[in-house]
This record gives sequence, structure tokens and C-alpha cells, in this order.
Amino acid sequence: MFADLHLHTQFSDGTYSPGELVDQASRHELVAIALTDHDTVEGCAPTAQACDAAGIEFISGTELTAEQDGHEIHILGYCIDTGDPKLLAEISKFQLVRQNRVREMVARLNRLNVPLEAEAVFALANCRSPGRPHVARALVSARLCANLDEAFERFLKKNRPAWVPKFKMSAADAIELIHGAGGVAVMAHPGLNRSDEVIPSMAAAGLDGLECFHTKHSSSTAERYLQLADRFHLLVTGGSDCHGTSKGQPVIGTVKLPYQHVEKLKARAVSNRAQAQLPSAKKPAKTGVLHQADPQP
Ligand code: AMP
Ligand code: FE
Ligand code: FE
Ligand code: ZN
Repeated sequence: MFADLHLHTQFSDGTYSPGELVDQASRHELVAIALTDHDTVEGCAPTAQACDAAGIEFISGTELTAEQDGHEIHILGYCIDTGDPKLLAEISKFQLVRQNRVREMVARLNRLNVPLEAEAVFALANCRSPGRPHVARALVSARLCANLDEAFERFLKKNRPAWVPKFKMSAADAIELIHGAGGVAVMAHPGLNRSDEVIPSMAAAGLDGLECFHTKHSSSTAERYLQLADRFHLLVTGGSDCHGTSKGQPVIGTVKLPYQHVEKLKARAVSNRAQAQLPSAKKPAKTGVLHQADPQP
């Protein structure tokens, strides 16, 4: 029994609709999936419905962008209440930042004599959480770049001429936001960020887990994060980070997380919620992480 806990749809920068994503999950015989679109939870309800029909367990989720000690960190929130007012208010601010950032990237492209229009990007993205992949796709579809790699290499990668930095909350704020929505906070693809030194402080800030298994983690990288997860008493998760067909072959099915980790994740959501309901004076100090097996006060 295997799960994939890192997937994107058209509600952010993936190419699959919820139905197409769930069809793919069925094809790969996954028993559980989580949807982790960037800065949105809009895709959760339709994906949950498609999962119900397909007999697949659905875990709600999102992927937030944060910053810790100068490193960009992606934080996955799982088992979140997708109607949580604070979460919804915050992510709608992040979406506005993304929309303004698209306009700024397009303005920079225009100053470079690349005649792209912001409306073309928004029409193509057709979602509230547009990002650089949509700008790249719009450049390709307007024949201003030959392919997505060229768009990123020439214009959109960090420090390239149309790159615009994105506002990022602190990792501690992201973790708090996810916990406030009843969820479990997991550091996404740590091997991509080359920022292992932030793991201790994130664990102290209440991080629940590490995404040890990811398409871009080699087996030795996965092993390193399994050891770090063990050392810091963090849960183990994994997923393909499939964005559909945007980057060639879809990667769903290439990372298969044993289901026992999903059970531990769900148990952590229950214990986080129970802890949040305690009167604040009785809450355990958040100076370390609670081990799954630690007795709950
Ligand atoms: P954003 O959140 O707008 O900064 O965009 C980040 C997204 O761009 C991530 O989902 C990445 O998968 C994607 N991305 C980053 N670098 C590249 C690249 N060189 N080629 C294609 N996609 C990329
Ligand atoms: Fe993405
Ligand atoms: Fe990410
Ligand atoms: Zn992702």
C-alpha cells in the first residue's frame, strides 16, 4: 500500500485537473494522495470528490513558501482544515502577491523588449496562484521562447533579468499557520534547498516532518534525511511533486511512500489538534519536538 503526498493540479502550476490527477493515481494503484498546490486549497474539494469516487484516500494539503536564515524553504501543510478563516485570509494575501509579481515580471520582460502581456499569463494560468511556470508557459506559447528551460534560463531563474523576489513569511509563521488550521507541517524537498542547517531551528519551531522521499532526492539523499528525521524526531513523508505534463513525463508513481507513514501523519494531526485545544498555560513548551511516542500531557 503506497501513497504520494506531493502533487499539484491546475489550481496552481500543475497541468492536471483534479479528475485527471486522480485517474493517474488510480493507474499507479496509489491508496492515498495529498494535494499540495502552492498557496491555495481550492483544488482540495474537487480532488477529494474524485478520490471518493475512485476509492482513494484523500489528504488535504498546500505548499507554502517561507524563508529561514536566508534560505527559501517550502513547507507542506497536511490534514489542514481547508475552511480555516485565518489560513484562507493568509493564502489570499499570498495569491495577491503572486498576481502582482506576475505583473512585475511581465513589466521587466517588456523593458527587455519581450512583448508579453500580463493578461496572456493570467488567461493561461486561469488560477489564483500564478507563478513563474505560467510566465514561462506564456513565453513559449507566444513563441518568445523555444521551451520552458529557455524561459527560466534566460529570464526567470533567480537573479536573471525578469526574476522578481517573492515575499516570504518566516518558517515559524508558516508552521504556526498550518498548526492553527489543524494541520501537520512538513519541510518539502530539503535536498533541493541545500539548507540542512535550518532543520534544527525549524524542528524547535514545531516542524512535524521531513519530506525524505522526493523525485529529485537520490537514494543517498533520502537516506540522509531519514537519519535527520530520526535524530530530530520528525515524521517521514514523501511524494513525487508531480506537476503533470509541464516538465515532460509526469512523475506521479515514481515516488511511492509506504502507507504506514500516512498513518503516523494522521495521528500527528490528531495530537496537534488535541494539544491546540489545551488551555495555553498547560501547553508544553515548544522548545523541542514531541516524539510520536512521547506521552501527551
Ligand atoms: P514560483 O513559486 O513562482 O517562484 O515558481 C516556482 C516553480 O517554478 C516551482 O514549482 C518549480 O517547479 C518551477 N521551476 C523552478 N525552476 C524551474 C526551471 N528551471 N524549469 C522549470 N520549472 C522551474
Ligand atoms: Fe510548483
Ligand atoms: Fe516546492
Ligand atoms: Zn511542489
